[in-house]
Parts: sequence; C-alpha cells; structure tokens
Amino acid sequence: MVATAPLDIPAIQPSSRVQEYLQSPRQALINGQWQAAASGKTFAVYNPASGAEIAQVAECDAEDINQAVAAARKVFDDPNHAWNTMTPSDRGRLIWKIGDLILEHADELAELESIDNGKPKAVAAAADVPLSADLFHYMAGWCTKLEGNTIPISVPYAPGAKFHAYTTREPVGVVGQIIPWNFPLLMAAWKLGPALATGNCVILKPAEQTPLTALRLGEIMVEAGVPDGVVNIVPGMGETAGASLAAHDDVDKIAFTGSTEVGKMIVNAAAGNLKKVTLELGGKSPNIIFKDTADLEATIAGAASAIFFNHGQCCCAGSRLYVEKDIFEEVVKGVTAAAAAIKMGPGLAPDTEMGPLVSDEQLARVTGYMNAGVEAGANCVTGGTRLGDQGYFVAPTVITDTRDDMSIVREEIFGPVVVADPFDDIEEIIDRSNDSAYGLAAGIWTRDLSKAHRTAARLRAGTVWVNTYNIFDAALPFGGYKQSGWGREMGHEVLELYTETKAVCMGL
Ligand code: ADP
Repeated sequence: MVATAPLDIPAIQPSSRVQEYLQSPRQALINGQWQAAASGKTFAVYNPASGAEIAQVAECDAEDINQAVAAARKVFDDPNHAWNTMTPSDRGRLIWKIGDLILEHADELAELESIDNGKPKAVAAAADVPLSADLFHYMAGWCTKLEGNTIPISVPYAPGAKFHAYTTREPVGVVGQIIPWNFPLLMAAWKLGPALATGNCVILKPAEQTPLTALRLGEIMVEAGVPDGVVNIVPGMGETAGASLAAHDDVDKIAFTGSTEVGKMIVNAAAGNLKKVTLELGGKSPNIIFKDTADLEATIAGAASAIFFNHGQCCCAGSRLYVEKDIFEEVVKGVTAAAAAIKMGPGLAPDTEMGPLVSDEQLARVTGYMNAGVEAGANCVTGGTRLGDQGYFVAPTVITDTRDDMSIVREEIFGPVVVADPFDDIEEIIDRSNDSAYGLAAGIWTRDLSKAHRTAARLRAGTVWVNTYNIFDAALPFGGYKQSGWGREMGHEVLELYTETKAVCMGL
C-alpha cells in the first residue's frame, strides 16, 4: 500500500437546485418517457470527494436496452416519422438549440459534473460545458451540408450506354453509444452531436460511475424538441446494459469510448451482426521536450498540465515525459514544483485545482501503479501517496529512473502520474515514443519549425500538439492509431462514420 498524506477536505453541500435533482431516483429516457428500470433495480452514485452516496439511478439491463432499441428502430424505420421528414435546416436548428440550452444551464451542469466526477466545478464550467455546447453548435451546421457527388462513369462492358450516377449520404440507422466517466457530459456531446446531425437514432449508455449529466442532457434534449425515441439514455452496468447494447442485432453501429480492454470486447460483441464499430480507446502519450524549446517556463507549465489536467484521467494525457538530457534536471524540477503546488480539494471548493479520482477502483488502480513503479526501482520525486482518508484523492506524482519495460511506462495509469526520462537524440526519442501499443496523442516542444514538422510526421499518433497540449475543438478530428482506436471523433471526419454512402446508377 502507498502511504497516506494528510489532506483537509471541507464538506461542501451542492446547491439546492442540484440537491433537488438528486433527491428522487434518476430514471432512464426510453421512447420519450422517463422510466424506472424494468427490473425495478437502482444503483448508487457516489461523490468521489467524500465517498458518500449522492443519488440512486435506474439500473437498466438487457430488457431496457431491448425497449430502447425497439423505440429507436421504430422511429428510424418509419419514413413518415417527424424525425425522418424534418428538413436538414430544421434538424440543424434543433441541434443548435441543444447547444443553447446547455449554455443556459451551464452552472447547474458544471456543478452536477463536479460532484459526480470529482473535477473542479470551475474546470467543468470553463471546459466541459462550453465544449459540449460548441460541439452541438458545430454539428448543427453540418445538417445542411451532407452532400453526395455526381460521378461520370464509363462501364467498359456497356459500350455506348449512358448513365446518370450519383451518391447520397444516409444515416447508418440505430446507433448504440457507450461512454466513459472522465468527461461525462462532453463524451455524451461528442457522441450524440454527429449522430443526430446525420439523422440517426441513438441509445446512449453513460458510465455507471457518472450518469448524472447525461441524464440531465436527456431532459435538455426533450426540452429542445428532439422527438420521442430518437435519443434514448439508458444507464446501467457495462457488463449488462453495455454488453447487450454492443451485441444487439437491431443496432447498426456501436460507438465506444473507454478502455482498450473493453474496446476489444465490443469488437467481439459486434461481430454477431457485423454492426459498424468506432472506438476511442486508451493511450500512453509521449510528450517530448527538446532543449531548444522556446520558453522553458511555459514548456514546464505545459508539461505539467499535459499530465495533471483532469487529474490525469484523460486518454491523451502526456504521461510519458521525455526531455532532452541537457535540460532534464531543470524540467523535472519545474514539473515537480508545479505538482506540489496544485491545490487539492473537493470539486465544489472554489480554490480547488485538482479533485479526487473518480472511484475507489481508480484509487486502487493508480496507487497500485505507484507501488509497482517504486518496487521495480523507479524514483518517486514527488507524490506517490494517497491524500486524506476519505474520498479518492492521490497526490500529483512525478517518477524518474524508469526503464522502458516497466509497467508504469508501458501501461495507461489514468491518474496524475507522469514518468520522466531523458533522451540524447531525435532518432532515439522517435523510436521510444512509437514503442507503444497505443497511438492516441503526442506532444513536441521546440522552436525549430522544421524539427517540429519532421517529428510530428514520424510520430504514430492521431493528434500531435506542438508547443501546446490538450487543445480540443469541435472542428479538429480526434482519435487513435494502433490500439488507441478505430475512426475519429469530431470534425467532418466523424460524419463519414455516422453515414452510409449510397451509389445510385440510372440508365438513360
Ligand atoms: P474504465 O476502465 O475507464 O472504467 P471502461 O472501458 O471499463 O472504462 O468503461 C467505459 C464504458 O464501457 C462504461 O460505460 C462501461 O459501463 C462500459 N463497459 C464496461 N464493460 C463493458 C462491456 N463488457 N460491454 C459493453 N460496455 C462495457
């Protein structure tokens, strides 16, 4: 067991509005109705800052998934349904309104996110909520721009014949979406925005640790006027609700964000009806600092934020920090000082900069990795402890003296733990960076533009940040190489993955 260092954790009550929301068991949204699970079961949701129960939520399973899929299927298969006859322009307006309503309820959503996930409310208010609204606003514009092509064809075996050939873009159909707990509202937005913009019907299963903002988003969608059955939000466990959604024969596509391990299960479950699959999975992203970085102070701050943002619970966290030898000591010293200065506390405290991990399971996982690193001979420069004896807090941790074969270097820890190692030359560090099962993101810090572009081109990662880190935008595609996933979220790239292309060929 890692040691426990003291932490004073003030108990802060949520606002009366949020308390009221949490008072009665939160239900599933199926076919436009809020309903209890068919089994009547509920599960508890906890505040990670205290470990105290904050809500009961409908624990849906295969039966509820069946109902939700049937509702979505019925809408999708009815050409006269309002969802299918709606003009693209009206669909765009509806999706835009969802974005507006998110902004209208921004404070409440940020607070709910904070007590459910543990992240500082200020961070949820500055990042998660506006990014979610922006995603809907961005996707709204695409509804009127889903165009096909006219294609001149030659057909060698039909000499002299004339044809008119064109493509159209159609929704994939009924889409199952399974999301994780690290950015609960934002992940729901990343999934629902493009699915709706392209005219699909959806069954969304939020993570069992953090279902609250997705359920609140369901209310917002109803308020915005999304027709019954188009969006179904079905909370439950992964092994039951999630697994039956992934395996369901009436589901045309499954979009998953979560661990690589579960991603592989999704692929297997999807094989039954060969539903389309997109995956956004884990990472172990290298963050490479060259000695010619322009501004060392800003670079150090960037390296610290690359790992410590969202408590390191980011699939793209800059968790492998590689620093050119001459400046290694200075950078480690700076990142260590930054780690030690982070103000820890419950998400609702206004001065909190880092909250708890999301769950006792994650606490055990992250401290387990800390132990494994130290036992394998690595050196914990700062952190390496649990903080306090309630909730799931761990100290921001910097580890040096690692070897590339250690589990803390190879595996995704998903906590505020960075391994730092020096390097000598560019070829070495490109090889070591790419020596990973993952390929989600990478960072490069240098003032040499040519070096930046050459290195970016050689890194096997879906996103490369240069002289910055953790920059997201609804217009910028995000996703992984290798075992970090299939397909992309956001940008116009995601629209390809929520549409089928139909080729129509007419003899003239
Ligand atoms: P983490 O390990 O970070 O909790 P997971 O990959 O386990 O991430 O979870 C991400 C999402 O996948 C959650 O919504 C979870 O309920 C769901 N899930 C977990 N196991 C399965 C499964 N076997 N089939 C489908 N979904 C699952």
